[in-house]
Amino acid sequence: MLVLPLLQHIGEVAECLVTPGERVLKGQMIAAPRGDVSAPVHASSSGTVVAIEPRPYPHPSGLPAPAIIIETDGKDEWLDSEHGLANYHEIEAARLLDHIRQSGIVGLGGAGFPTQVKLGSSVYHNIELLVINGAECEPYLSCDNRLMQERAAEILEGVRILQHLLKPDNCIIALENHMGAAREAMQVAVDNTADRAINLVSVPDIYPSGGERQLIRILTGKEVPSQGFPADIGILCQNVGTATAIYQAVVHNRPLVSRIVTVTGAGVKQPCNLEALIGTPFLDMITACGGYADRVDRLLMGGPMMGFAVNTDNVPVIKTTNCILAVTRDEMPPPPPEQPCIRCSKCTDVCPADLLPQQLFWHARSGNLDAAQDYNLFDCIECGCCAYVCPSHIPLVQYYRHSKAEIWTRDRQKQASDIARRRHDARKARLERIKQERAERLARKKQQLGSSEDTAENTRKAAIQAALERVRRKKAQTEIAPKNVDNLTAEQQQRIHEVDERRQQSGKDPEQ
Ligand code: SF4
Ligand code: SF4
Repeated sequence: MLVLPLLQHIGEVAECLVTPGERVLKGQMIAAPRGDVSAPVHASSSGTVVAIEPRPYPHPSGLPAPAIIIETDGKDEWLDSEHGLANYHEIEAARLLDHIRQSGIVGLGGAGFPTQVKLGSSVYHNIELLVINGAECEPYLSCDNRLMQERAAEILEGVRILQHLLKPDNCIIALENHMGAAREAMQVAVDNTADRAINLVSVPDIYPSGGERQLIRILTGKEVPSQGFPADIGILCQNVGTATAIYQAVVHNRPLVSRIVTVTGAGVKQPCNLEALIGTPFLDMITACGGYADRVDRLLMGGPMMGFAVNTDNVPVIKTTNCILAVTRDEMPPPPPEQPCIRCSKCTDVCPADLLPQQLFWHARSGNLDAAQDYNLFDCIECGCCAYVCPSHIPLVQYYRHSKAEIWTRDRQKQASDIARRRHDARKARLERIKQERAERLARKKQQLGSSEDTAENTRKAAIQAALERVRRKKAQTEIAPKNVDNLTAEQQQRIHEVDERRQQSGKDPEQ
């Protein structure tokens, strides 16, 4: 049984494309991306969709989330899809980015940001340095180390695709000092590519060297601007797992249906790294590692510093699951009760982002979110170093997470009300415009009617004028006639004489 949540990434929830009872094949898209920042979900094995419903989900809230449940048939039958884009050197960036989007790839370092969005915004920046991050995010994790040892050639091919897309001047593959075997494997792969622009660089085994901003600072001495992105300073960072997923998608047309997961902790009998199908329940992963050891206290997704507890092992592996950590009480005792801050400033001393955790805490606790933002709350990478050293055992990161969530909610509500206000204003303006246009149309009609009435009146006046003119001419003729009376016959002269007499008697023209 596989449980595939519709949200396994940062962004919009994917839109379900299947219905219960439908047979699906491995690699088939079963949920489509919705909006620009989203990622599709693919069936990670063949089988039948048996339900689409909320299921336990690996998230700090512990709330269930909508998921597609597939009863697998054991055949693991791939969708007979078209061949990949092995000739990617000849393909333009836009098509490759769309292919990466359709393959459902997200950042596998743990962030889960859709990869094509990160790459898409970087394609139009001038990227000078491409950083491939092989440094583990946290203690306990070894999934990237294992991947580099076993699939170095695939990582390198993924790097070549990224180089084709971004055209960086240089490329660094970063590993930690203790990763000797991985370094050897990667060095062989780099030598085989004969690409002089790719360098392997080891960084100290100090947490959190694997964090994007910290790694960039270690490698280049440059600071990513506050609330900015590495692309703003000409750098793009991708995880080694993401590079492999890009290779599989582009060259073999295989969408993201599995990932390497570290299953570890004193609560697991045989800790190891497993390649897990997305959707595999945590319990199956633990069972594949020999089952639980005695006295398991908590189960976490992620490492001990940035991970979070899940309240059931029925949650599935999702794209961002880099580690399943089963800890005992001895290994990770529950935190003692929180005490008041004693202003020791130990938290400030250890903050890798150069923040003032104590100030952030004050503002977060008092709900002064604007002040917390003024202290660069969003530059906090939630590494947990401050909480780890705090002698008062204050769960500082939880305060920061809560404040960030509050600010996001507030911003979303503000955006929604802004959109509603803009729509209201637009409607008002549209109604005003319609009213005005109607008034103008009426005015034009009236004007047209008025001018046609004038024309009829003028025609009538002209006809009267013409009639009067005709009468005048006729009268003039009759008045001229007596002057030529000598040329008329006697009968005509008699007739004129009679008419004149009658006119004089009546005072009127008798021929009118
Ligand atoms: S380490 Fe803890 S007690 Fe010390 S200043 Fe920071 S929050 Fe306060
Ligand atoms: S969690 Fe604490 S130490 Fe880590 S970046 Fe945030 S404020 Fe700094």
